[in-house]
Amino acid sequence: MRAMVLLKPGTPLQLRDLPIPAPGPGQLLIKVAACAICRTDLHILDGELTEPKLPLVPGHQIVGRVVTSGSGVTQFKPGDRVGVPWLGSTCGCCPDCNEGRENLCDRARFTGYHLDGGYAEYAVADQRFCFALPEGFGDLQAAPLLCAGLIGYRSLRMTGDARRLGIYGFGAAAHIIIQVARWQGCEVYAFTRAGDHEGQQFARQLGAVWVGAADQLPPDALDAAIIFAPAGELVPASLEAVRKGGTVVCAGIHMSDIPSFPYRLLWGERVLRSVANLTRRDGEEFLEIAPRVPVRTEVQLYPLEAANEALADLKAGRVKGAGVLVVSP
Ligand SMILES: [Zn+2]
Ligand SMILES: [Zn+2]
Repeated sequence: MRAMVLLKPGTPLQLRDLPIPAPGPGQLLIKVAACAICRTDLHILDGELTEPKLPLVPGHQIVGRVVTSGSGVTQFKPGDRVGVPWLGSTCGCCPDCNEGRENLCDRARFTGYHLDGGYAEYAVADQRFCFALPEGFGDLQAAPLLCAGLIGYRSLRMTGDARRLGIYGFGAAAHIIIQVARWQGCEVYAFTRAGDHEGQQFARQLGAVWVGAADQLPPDALDAAIIFAPAGELVPASLEAVRKGGTVVCAGIHMSDIPSFPYRLLWGERVLRSVANLTRRDGEEFLEIAPRVPVRTEVQLYPLEAANEALADLKAGRVKGAGVLVVSP
């Protein structure tokens, strides 16, 4: 099969011809239709996440169809469409797993990081961590739901019942979550890089009541903010924009260092927290809500072989909505 492979962090992905993987017990063999790209993939390629399997097939927003399965598979059958997210497996027996926090399991294995992912024509995945996908979404449109959507949704949930919500960084996750937030009755304030007129226009089209640069203050104090961009300086900036008792959620897996800031920005019972990974329950909830909103994903398409170009575009802020690799049209 054709696969884009990371041999060493800091080097581009290489197109390789690999054997089709064999599904083990409980695993599905999936013919990949599409795989969305994610900023986490960049952090892996750049060596900011330091424990990838090598060589590695990245990609953790996989949409495909079951070809065959290993022993003991009962949830899916050949021909079923499935989605594979970042959470690839957990230990299933630690306190975090037992108490509804499987996203924090120390022995969790992640797709496209510890396990080969979807930048390839075939992938294997544990059936227990795969999702059935809502029918109203084509393969290409469904792919970004699997991380941008799921982890975005978990981040949105952590903002509680915010009415005035700030979103810092208007990429794949933001363009999905603004739709869910508005559906829930939030007013959304979108913050982009200074001078990113295209991003600001996109946020306005999706219903942001206010758009501005990340160092600007909105006209009204926010109840909560989600930071999707990996820039530590957004932490003090967003705390400044949030009211007393408000919450700032850092949604990314990696961020540049947070500059020191005066305690008054946190004072007043403001809450600063991160969101890590996802639980299967987040996925089930979000995939149930997405067609009711209904979420419309904007996708920028690339052939599998152009994965390096797609990631370069993501890094440079040239992707509108979500970048998706078309693997088997
Ligand atoms: Zn566990
Ligand atoms: Zn991701």
